[in-house]
Amino acid sequence: MDRGIVVEEVGTLELVELEVEQPAAHEVLVRLEATGVCHSDLHILETGFSHPPPVLLGHEGAGLVEAVGPNVESVAVGDRVVIGWRAPCGECRWCLRGDPRRCRTPASAGPRVTAGGRPLTRAFGAGTFATRTVVHEHAAVAIDDLPPEQSCLLGCAVATGVGSVLETAQVWPGARVGVIGCGAVGLCVIQGARIAGAEEVHAIDLDERKLETAKRFGATHTGEGARLDFVFDVVGRPETVEQSLAMLGHAGTLVYIGLPHPDASVELPLKRAFDRRLRFLVSHGGDHVPALDFPELAGHARAGRLDLGALVTKTIALDDVAHAFEEMRAGDVIRSVVVL
Ligand SMILES: [Zn+2]
Ligand SMILES: [Zn+2]
Repeated sequence: MDRGIVVEEVGTLELVELEVEQPAAHEVLVRLEATGVCHSDLHILETGFSHPPPVLLGHEGAGLVEAVGPNVESVAVGDRVVIGWRAPCGECRWCLRGDPRRCRTPASAGPRVTAGGRPLTRAFGAGTFATRTVVHEHAAVAIDDLPPEQSCLLGCAVATGVGSVLETAQVWPGARVGVIGCGAVGLCVIQGARIAGAEEVHAIDLDERKLETAKRFGATHTGEGARLDFVFDVVGRPETVEQSLAMLGHAGTLVYIGLPHPDASVELPLKRAFDRRLRFLVSHGGDHVPALDFPELAGHARAGRLDLGALVTKTIALDDVAHAFEEMRAGDVIRSVVVL
């Protein structure tokens, strides 16, 4: 019997029985082994976040391919895969011009998972808080040699944090970098900055505990910096954007990662922006493409440049997800990972 964590309506969470159909063309049925608890799942629970209920939560998973539909070439039954949520559609204007990182409408499997006969919206097309799920083949990438409770993190936190540094911003060796918000994604930004060869990495967070953690992950300074080349705003509030702009130096780049409140806006001081030649970039999940980036990120982990294990504060069971959200709100964990 399959089970999963479903948002029946905004604000309510339930562990329910699922029915999982066989995959159709270009789809893959995955038996989940591990799945991380991400802020975006909490965001869906609290706001809906463009996901019509009922929603099967979870979008950062790893597991074994149990079945593949027709025309699936990239993975086979028995492969251990990491599930991502930015599978390029291959059809939009950006994909067609050879820029899948800007894909506007990520590819998704059909509604193959139901609860009591009702089709479920899968969080970001994934739906990994479940014993099994069905995803598009381009969302499942074979990564066989890392423990699933670590490799699952490649699917969102790592792809977003490291991707924002290496792909969105293209941080260069010797750069001075700031990071506002030192949760799992922020810690991955810090690790990405170290991989890119940044000279200074300033960690900024209101929670002293997170600053201590940030130092362990490679931050060279804590607290605000000045004349920085890149500032990554992982929080995404107007006040953190203003704080980011104030820290940037000549030709500095603000990389906006955090999720905005629907009504949020900022005032941009045009004279300062012009004089300093500032740049503003939005990172959508690090602009990652699963098939391109997951193998490379796994390589960084194997080589010891990327510490996945230290991101996992604790492993939990599927029915502990509600409690994991509470701990996340309190800032008590980096990542809780559900092990199935
Ligand atoms: Zn596309
Ligand atoms: Zn996420």
